Amino acid sequence: MIKILTIIGARPQFIKASVVSRAIKNTDGIEEIMLHTGQHFDANMSDVFFNQLGIPQPHIQLDIHGGSHGEMTGRMLADIEQAVIEHKPDRVLVYGDTNSTLAGALAAAKLHVPVAHVEAGLRSFNMRMPEEINRILTDQISDLLFCPTDTAVNHLQQEGFAAKPVKVLQVGDVMQDAALFFANHALAPAGFDVKPGFILATLHRAENTDAPERLASIVDALNHLHTEVAPVVLPLHPRTRNVVAKLGLLLNVHLIDPVGYFEMVWLLDHAGLVLTDSGGVQKEAFFFGKACVTMRDQTEWVELIDAGANELVGANGQKIIDAVTRNLGRKVQDTQQLYGGGKAAERIVSELMSRGINGF
Ligand code: UDP
Repeated sequence: MIKILTIIGARPQFIKASVVSRAIKNTDGIEEIMLHTGQHFDANMSDVFFNQLGIPQPHIQLDIHGGSHGEMTGRMLADIEQAVIEHKPDRVLVYGDTNSTLAGALAAAKLHVPVAHVEAGLRSFNMRMPEEINRILTDQISDLLFCPTDTAVNHLQQEGFAAKPVKVLQVGDVMQDAALFFANHALAPAGFDVKPGFILATLHRAENTDAPERLASIVDALNHLHTEVAPVVLPLHPRTRNVVAKLGLLLNVHLIDPVGYFEMVWLLDHAGLVLTDSGGVQKEAFFFGKACVTMRDQTEWVELIDAGANELVGANGQKIIDAVTRNLGRKVQDTQQLYGGGKAAERIVSELMSRGINGF
């Protein structure tokens, strides 16, 4: 029996892990132990995903959140190390680019337990983003690198991975697996009464929330769009809510609490456009046929820009307003199967199986 220790902790990781976890459950000869670091802990940032997406309750629940990056990552590293020693997995599986990802990979690699990284090879080339640091370091200490796109594979080749004793595979994107699998579970958020065609916005990246000028400019643009162009529906991330309150900014849009995945799928389905700084939501807009405007200076998902499905506008208020006005209601189509068509989890599990016990 191959024993996998999966490390998750943040909202997008619950969604990604749900599809791989189900594929593991449906496969003989492989078992999964789940460790939740506690990085996201609110009921609407964590529990709701376990309940809706059928993710098994974590075997190991840590309670590590808040504090500085160093403090959070350090505490996770110490506790995950203990879990690896105790459970002796054949492999550790990590997702994406959060502090939980890096801590999980580092704890395992130092104990000579092989690491598989889902979403390997993504790059924004902006080393000021904590996510960029986490993903580059995680890739360096993984021996099974599951890339979601050809672009990600190319990044790793350019960084010299072809000459290393590791395996780089393009498996497609687990987020497309999740979007396809759960599309027919769409659920309107309780009491939601905004007519279809609204602007669905999300805002939580540190590059925006930790830069008061950028945040103020984005808030002004959202307020303008809401009164002049179309209702802006914003499920507000707890980090953004705190910063907005601290800076005394006034958000005059249709604010709702963060929603579960089924509600998010419903919102994506009924939106006229997606306006976001999220990584995952850029692709989900595409999966649901909606144009996307991205409030960042770089994106890891460059194929969406090349396909004309996504426009990068940074935090410039006028650019945000112009791009949204121009793209509202525009439909986009995935004619090239950019993200693998929903087979990523299956491919990942089959590769984990073929690597066998202790990674060999
Ligand atoms: N999401 C959600 N509810 C919300 C906002 C986002 O379920 O209120 C989902 C979204 O559909 C996507 C994931 O959370 O699957 C994206 O996570 P997030 O934007 O927090 O992180 P990122 O993708 O930027 O790492």
